[in-house]
Amino acid sequence: MGRIRVLPEALANLIAAGEVVERPASCVKELIENSLDAGARSVRVSLVDGGITGIVVQDDGCGMDAEDATLAFARHATSKVRSARDLYHIRTLGFRGEALASIAAVADVTLRTREPGAEAGVEVHVAGGVIDPPKPVGIPPGTRVEVRSLFYNTPARLKYLKSVAAEQARCVEVVQRAAVSRPDVSFWCEANGHVVFRTSGRGDLREVLSVLFGVGEAQQFLEVRAETADYRLYGYIGRPAQARARRAQAYWTVNGRPIRSPLLHQAVVDGYGGRLLVQHHPVYALAIDLDAALVDVNIHPHKTEVRFSEEADVCRMVTRAVREALAQANLAPGLVASV
Ligand code: ADP
Ligand code: MG
Repeated sequence: MGRIRVLPEALANLIAAGEVVERPASCVKELIENSLDAGARSVRVSLVDGGITGIVVQDDGCGMDAEDATLAFARHATSKVRSARDLYHIRTLGFRGEALASIAAVADVTLRTREPGAEAGVEVHVAGGVIDPPKPVGIPPGTRVEVRSLFYNTPARLKYLKSVAAEQARCVEVVQRAAVSRPDVSFWCEANGHVVFRTSGRGDLREVLSVLFGVGEAQQFLEVRAETADYRLYGYIGRPAQARARRAQAYWTVNGRPIRSPLLHQAVVDGYGGRLLVQHHPVYALAIDLDAALVDVNIHPHKTEVRFSEEADVCRMVTRAVREALAQANLAPGLVASV
């Protein structure tokens, strides 16, 4: 008899969880993505002890019926991808169907959800990968996911977490990135009962930046706009004097998805040319919209990296647009000290 065994589902989930849910912030990110994919206009995130003790994400999205609310916890169960072809045209933030199964493998999860037309909502509780039968519950339309005692059954993971303050900062950053990527959605972020920040969802990126950077600083930002047949670039960049000596506060959004890209960052830096002080990093919030077929988001489980089919074109457009925005701002030659 051979030695190879197919892993039981609960064990497979636990292994997958290692990739998808590294820390509370990854959990927050996955839950926010689900809310946005559900068409939420408002997303509320509450953290207890940096998300280690508790994370609640509540939305006013499309909700689920009882059957889906249970199925949502099965691995590779997704309403977002049906065929291989779909993978090349991904418009949703999620698509792997792994997040809820992974989170439920390493935490105690209570999901409450209600479709707008439904008479009542449904509550599903999952702990240690075991799903209790759904029961009816009275809640407003939308979905609320409560995650308790993250990593209670994986002590190695728990030990590897940083301080409550550090984990909270990472969680808040995830909500901030989501808020920047979707000014049209109202975000509310609170930690241990105190509001950290909130945005109105009016669709005004500068307003979101005012919340995150402060009104005075955001007022100084320069608008960037560029459009070609394939791409639309828009957003704001800080003046050279607003650049940071430490790590940059920089946001990239591609097709509504917050991403990290050293390549795009370098394209922005190139646009500043010699205007930046040595070892200083520009602050900015820029977004690119393009045909989903021209960008691949399925390259890492975290989905924070993308690959453009015409990378050089995109970078050239970014560099040029940044350079033009700075040129139009009538900055004094050389470095402008006064902001
Ligand atoms: P994925 O997002 O990759 O599809 P998830 O495990 O994150 O996988 O979610 C599984 C499914 O559960 C989703 O495809 C969606 O149909 C449903 N779902 C999860 N969260 C929500 C939510 N907040 N509102 C409505 N449906 C949700
Ligand atoms: Mg998801």
